[in-house]
Amino acid sequence: MTICVIGGGAAGLMAAGTAAENGAKVLLFEKNEKVGRKIFITGKGRCNVCNDCDTQTVLQNVPVNPRFLYSALGCFSPQEVKDFFESRGVPLKTERGNRVFPVSDKSSDIIDALFTWVKHVGVKIVQETVTDIRTQEGQASAVCAGGREYGCDRVIVATGGASYAATGSTGDGYRFAKALGHTIIPPNPSLVPLVAAGDTCSELMGLSLRNVRVTVFENDKKLYSDLGEMLFTHFGVSGPLILSASAHMRHFGSKAYRIEIDLKPGLDEKTLDKRLLTDFEKYKNSDFINALGELLPRKLIPVAIACAKIDPRQKVHSVTKEQRLGLVQLLKAFPLVITGARPLNEAIITTGGVSVKDVNPKTMESKKVQGLYFAGEVLDVDAYTGGFNLQIAWSTGRLAGLSAAQE
Ligand SMILES: Cc1cc2nc3c(=O)[nH]c(=O)nc-3n(C[C@H](O)[C@H](O)[C@H](O)COP(=O)(O)OP(=O)(O)OC[C@H]3O[C@@H](n4cnc5c(N)ncnc54)[C@H](O)[C@@H]3O)c2cc1C
Repeated sequence: MTICVIGGGAAGLMAAGTAAENGAKVLLFEKNEKVGRKIFITGKGRCNVCNDCDTQTVLQNVPVNPRFLYSALGCFSPQEVKDFFESRGVPLKTERGNRVFPVSDKSSDIIDALFTWVKHVGVKIVQETVTDIRTQEGQASAVCAGGREYGCDRVIVATGGASYAATGSTGDGYRFAKALGHTIIPPNPSLVPLVAAGDTCSELMGLSLRNVRVTVFENDKKLYSDLGEMLFTHFGVSGPLILSASAHMRHFGSKAYRIEIDLKPGLDEKTLDKRLLTDFEKYKNSDFINALGELLPRKLIPVAIACAKIDPRQKVHSVTKEQRLGLVQLLKAFPLVITGARPLNEAIITTGGVSVKDVNPKTMESKKVQGLYFAGEVLDVDAYTGGFNLQIAWSTGRLAGLSAAQE
């Protein structure tokens, strides 16, 4: 049994090692000089390997096609992922939100463990870009790379999505799959910075806010709300909280999106109003612009005052109750109209990809071409942040490798 695996990322390495461990002769094609380039940049270089939770919780964090992953997660659960790395010399730790990282905080430890393992079980790494997959009588029969044809019995496509193209994920798998009759759900960015209307964000560019609450509205319906960190940029908003929020905005073009930022989530409106009254008393003879320094970051003050439509030179003692309550509302629900997402290349993950209707969820084998398998982000499944996207890659890679190695 000879298996060609295309792509030496998380899914491809897992698939290749698993297939080799199960007796197959495996060639792993990777276009980059080194395998695992995307793994290297995950979790800001620390690699959030998986989430320490049960499979049901993983499925709850997969907004599209979660049921497709049932067997893959049954085959390789978060606990099994943890055991896999720990038994290969990478001690892990669990942080906030059950996010699992190497104790060393080094993503390179994850890559090294995978690389050592695949070499140990006999995977041959071929540093070439695969340009085509050949079939014979509806059966995968070879891959073309570097002007050569590599004959094989099975092919596993683990080419990733189309985001952060510099890591090698340039969407080649979509092209291969389409040419062989599979439906491709249009690739789109997710876990991505957001573009906002107006000048507010560019005026606040560089300002990062910790411990704020962001609430997402789709056509005025509340979709999502969470606490965390965010950042204003020249185009809109970014930062961990925004990336997570973006995964819920899936219909730009057909639906209207806005976010509200609660700048003081620890204070309810009444308490915040009391706090403002205290500050106003202290600064009663100052200009209004000089009264908010204890409550808000400096950069935010002129913008907040302008949004609240209060004259910055108005004396604090003359601010009316109505103006003050308007300010309270603004600070509890600072509004931004979101007009779209930044391009795919800036997205942490790609939504869309090979339609799961064309793939057998029990084996990851194509329903269109025998002996052809898919694993990882190339498939039309994606998840929220928290280690769930790598979990998808590990689980589908494991299942594809196991199934493909079977006679
Ligand atoms: C900045 C960033 C941070 C992230 N952090 C996390 C995190 O902490 N936790 C988490 O769960 N997820 C994270 N993700 C998402 C996660 O990295 C991906 O979902 C996951 O790596 C997908 O694995 P994959 O193997 O399917 O694809 P990839 O990792 O993209 O691997 C595909 C591989 O295929 C190779 N390839 C492509 N085409 C060809 C070809 N024609 N011939 C040969 N080789 C080819 C590529 O060079 C690449 O090495 C992050 C993503 C980014 C961009």
